[in-house]
Amino acid sequence: MNREDFNILNTGIIYLDNGATTLKPKCLVEATNDYYLNYSANAHRGDYSISLKVDKMYEEVRDKVKRLINCESNEVIFTSGCTDSLNKVVFGFCKNYLKEGDEILLTKAEHASNVLPWFELSEEIKTSVKYIPLTEDHVVTVDNVIKSITDKTKVISLAQVTNVIGDIRPIKEITKIAHERGIIVIVDGAQSVPHMKVDVKDLDIDFLAFSAHKMCGPTGVGVLFGKYNLLEKMKPTSFGGGMNSYFEVNFDREYSKIPTRFEAGTPNIAGVIAFGKVIDYLLNIGMDNITKHELSLKKYLIDRLKENENITIYNENTMSGIVTFNYKDIFSQDLAIYLNKENICVRAGNHCAKILKEEIGVKNTCRVSLYLYNTKEEIDKLVDTLNCPTIKNNII
Ligand code: PMP
Repeated sequence: MNREDFNILNTGIIYLDNGATTLKPKCLVEATNDYYLNYSANAHRGDYSISLKVDKMYEEVRDKVKRLINCESNEVIFTSGCTDSLNKVVFGFCKNYLKEGDEILLTKAEHASNVLPWFELSEEIKTSVKYIPLTEDHVVTVDNVIKSITDKTKVISLAQVTNVIGDIRPIKEITKIAHERGIIVIVDGAQSVPHMKVDVKDLDIDFLAFSAHKMCGPTGVGVLFGKYNLLEKMKPTSFGGGMNSYFEVNFDREYSKIPTRFEAGTPNIAGVIAFGKVIDYLLNIGMDNITKHELSLKKYLIDRLKENENITIYNENTMSGIVTFNYKDIFSQDLAIYLNKENICVRAGNHCAKILKEEIGVKNTCRVSLYLYNTKEEIDKLVDTLNCPTIKNNII
């Protein structure tokens, strides 16, 4: 699918680490160059043509995000990435919303970005973190969410798709249960928004965080969506130019309207504008088509990996393009280094989900994560390499 748009694929590389970041299409590079070469002014500051053009181009990207996730444009905050977005909710919203003794529900499969901010907050304001138990397949069930909720539960914060197991969480059911009990639901969309249609209104999500670089976009750009009535209660966590209307010597001050209030300082202008082009690019392909493509590749990959009895797959039944496995008696990183000799990029290690080991019983795994440009031929090359009879002799 659209392989010609990705320059790096001409090198013959087989890139299967899309959960870490994706390759970049030419339209991203062209839009970035266009900004730097032709209208590289600051945003929200100038009264001259190129600056006004920047304002228009930058603000239009909020409308594109609105189309992507079905929110309102003024509910879109540009951040530096998913991690930054989650930190903004935790320290800008939850720090004021929660009080001592309140409970936050997570799972042990969450990424560091959806765990560590909660540890920090809990030490600061004495909230506590509880973990929703996972099933034997390492997934979240609605039943287990219900069982984990207590009178003190005030926030549930979950990835929509986890980055190691790749399970899709039942977010719509979870928000329903949560909202009936006055609980806020924060969704880490780092591994979902790039791969599937995410409709925040239909899912009734309170906050959604994601990164541009995992969906063909630039590094250093992310989005925090928040329901407007909740953003009204959120405090900025960063202060300076671009986010205030005035301030006086006596501390008197007024901050800009939402969402600019949350975007202090000069933003990643080229990145945001280029991200807009990438959203057009993905919507043009169709998010449903991307999902379908990844699922058919995943099924093919699972079938082929099963040919090899030395391979243990940890997430055969999940419905995303993530496949996590180990090769008997070979350390995952050694395997990844070996595959690299064949120009195949996979991820090895704990994938920033460092407490998941308590659930799956192993610390390190190899992860293949697929995207729109991957092919069956690439999977064949991967599996043929893994099936090569001399692999163990080569590695050990
Ligand atoms: N959450 C999940 C589930 C992720 O996979 C990642 C990236 N690996 C993040 C959060 C953090 O994203 P970023 O590094 O782009 O801020």
